[in-house]
Amino acid sequence: MKPLLVDTHGRTIDYLRVSITDLCNFRCVYCRPPEGVQLVTHKEILRYEEILAVVEVALEIGIRKVRITGGEPLVRRGVVDFIARLTRLPGLDDVALTTNGVLLTEMAHDLKVAGLKRINISLDSARRDVFTRITGQDKLDRVLAGIDAALTEGFDPVKINVVLLQGINEEDVPDFARMTLEKPLDVRFIERMPFGEAAPADTPLPFSAHKVFSLIGREVGKLIPVDSGPLDGPASLFQLRGARGRIGIVDPVTGHFCGACNRLRLTARGTLRPCLLAPGEIDIKAALRNGATREELSSIIHSAVRAKPDHGAKGAGLAREPMSRIGG
Ligand code: SAM
Ligand code: SF4
Repeated sequence: MKPLLVDTHGRTIDYLRVSITDLCNFRCVYCRPPEGVQLVTHKEILRYEEILAVVEVALEIGIRKVRITGGEPLVRRGVVDFIARLTRLPGLDDVALTTNGVLLTEMAHDLKVAGLKRINISLDSARRDVFTRITGQDKLDRVLAGIDAALTEGFDPVKINVVLLQGINEEDVPDFARMTLEKPLDVRFIERMPFGEAAPADTPLPFSAHKVFSLIGREVGKLIPVDSGPLDGPASLFQLRGARGRIGIVDPVTGHFCGACNRLRLTARGTLRPCLLAPGEIDIKAALRNGATREELSSIIHSAVRAKPDHGAKGAGLAREPMSRIGG
């Protein structure tokens, strides 16, 4: 039987989020400041072989699920071949990808053939002007086409991640809820987290996930609670009567997010990050490049699991790095 990775707070850690690049073709207002972020050089980024070496060891010691993220993961050259190698690793129950969707029409088919099963696509508004304001790119049509390509290829589920932005996309909330009536899409509303010291003063404020209930209740219908499965993560799940998809609420800011934490993060720069919200990372790249044994890599992963705080979301010093660096 596979061993369990359990942290010092009794939580089983079986999920590794892997950021494969800091680069992104969007400039989302809540993620990357307009003046840009300090990018790392090619040499500093983990090579695919190095990522696979970490994942292999992580799978031996208790990780079962991997999500590929970034920056925008689909901009990194060779990502489809990398995913094909990843999905063949023994002991991996699930591989998913989070993307802004802009390259999906071209890549969805190859990703499916590579063995990817699940996709999350970030979309905060289906109104063109609002989408452009949030992402800095007039590419809404391409993202919508990317969502349809993912559905056509049979990814199951296709999830839409919506970051809640006060005064910007409140009125999109009912429309996103209606999407779940029309298409087999799961929509997850996520509270904006306070990232990025360099964020401009006009960065939109978050609004509470609870407001989602009143907006949908008033305009679309009652949200009925549904049970979550092992792959649903920290979302509380609901459904509209007769809907094809579900609606998830992820409330890291106002809710109970940390108690169910099951994850560790590997950044593109080769550090393990025990907590999304609390600062602090553990280097694994130096060990990889110095020819570390599996036992040594395993011990670094164990130390990152031990470093997981009880409650990063309520911690004193919230992370001040952009999400494009950490991987969301
Ligand atoms: N580029 C890909 C994308 O946008 O889906 C993957 C990386 S992105 C950092 C991963 C997720 O983090 C996205 O769903 C994005 O909306 C979310 N995110 C980024 N900054 C955030 C913030 N400040 N608060 C909440 N979610 C955020
Ligand atoms: Fe890029 Fe994703 Fe961050 Fe938007 S949320 S800037 S698409 S990494």
